[in-house]
Amino acid sequence: MIRFRLIFAVLLCSISGIAHAAAPDTHFDGAKALEYTRQFVAIGPRWVGSPGHVKAEAFLRKQFQHDQLEVDTFTTNTPAGPMEMHNYIVKFPGKKDGVIVLATHYETNYPLRTINFVGANDGGSTTGLLIEMANHFRGRTLDGYSVWLVFLDGEEAVKSWSTSDSLYGSKHLAAKWQSDGTLKRVKAFLLADMIGDKDLDIYRDRNSTPWLLDLVQQAAAHFGYQSYFFAQENQIEDDHLPFVQRGVPSADIIDLDYGYDNAYHHTVDDTMDKLSAKSLTIAGDVFLETIRLVNQR
Ligand SMILES: [Zn+2]
Repeated sequence: MIRFRLIFAVLLCSISGIAHAAAPDTHFDGAKALEYTRQFVAIGPRWVGSPGHVKAEAFLRKQFQHDQLEVDTFTTNTPAGPMEMHNYIVKFPGKKDGVIVLATHYETNYPLRTINFVGANDGGSTTGLLIEMANHFRGRTLDGYSVWLVFLDGEEAVKSWSTSDSLYGSKHLAAKWQSDGTLKRVKAFLLADMIGDKDLDIYRDRNSTPWLLDLVQQAAAHFGYQSYFFAQENQIEDDHLPFVQRGVPSADIIDLDYGYDNAYHHTVDDTMDKLSAKSLTIAGDVFLETIRLVNQR
């Protein structure tokens, strides 16, 4: 019986594999996303309060100068005292009532301000990804839900990671959206983090919403990308948590295996040469297909 099941499973996989390989798809332009990442990362370190952070914000405002761009400015207490932070929200309206959020953080790690930490993958790659993503949504009313691209500030700890010292931008935005009623309209919160890694392996995050991860997996299978997604599991604390805790279906798509044994994470080695256009194409394709699947639900 077990053997039969196994053979059956293998057969199903190979049949669906052939079907997907035959389906031509237009791909997300990972090369363009990588180029946006390169320009953004060239600004240099962009920890909260630094001149680089001000330049990073100006860069974002310039990309979205003709779009519906909102700045969410707030001051929050941190172990280094009160800090002013800025979330950026770019809204692309859709015909259906409801919102799909695609989010990243854009700042660099504050404790690493003493070294030349540019966060090419950590904050950079996903900023480039979202900037290119806007080119898919711009200039028309979307058939499905509205899509909002959210660039969060203050994801990183100011001193050392804890519940209170982390996720400043997402905690603020989730609370604000809860009090003004926006949160009820959010059908899915998709978070991208560190997915520019050349050696892409995204684990299945146990803090995320299972049905939404299932859609991500289905989207990956659509392109034959199964080998990059969810071979292993982990449990990640990231900007999705304040939304998960408020009942918003959320998925953190993160590759926290960056270099051998995560050796490049939070080091001066988090540089452009560790990234690839192909990984950004894979991630972009999967986010676009996931958005399509959420719209179909
Ligand atoms: Zn980080």
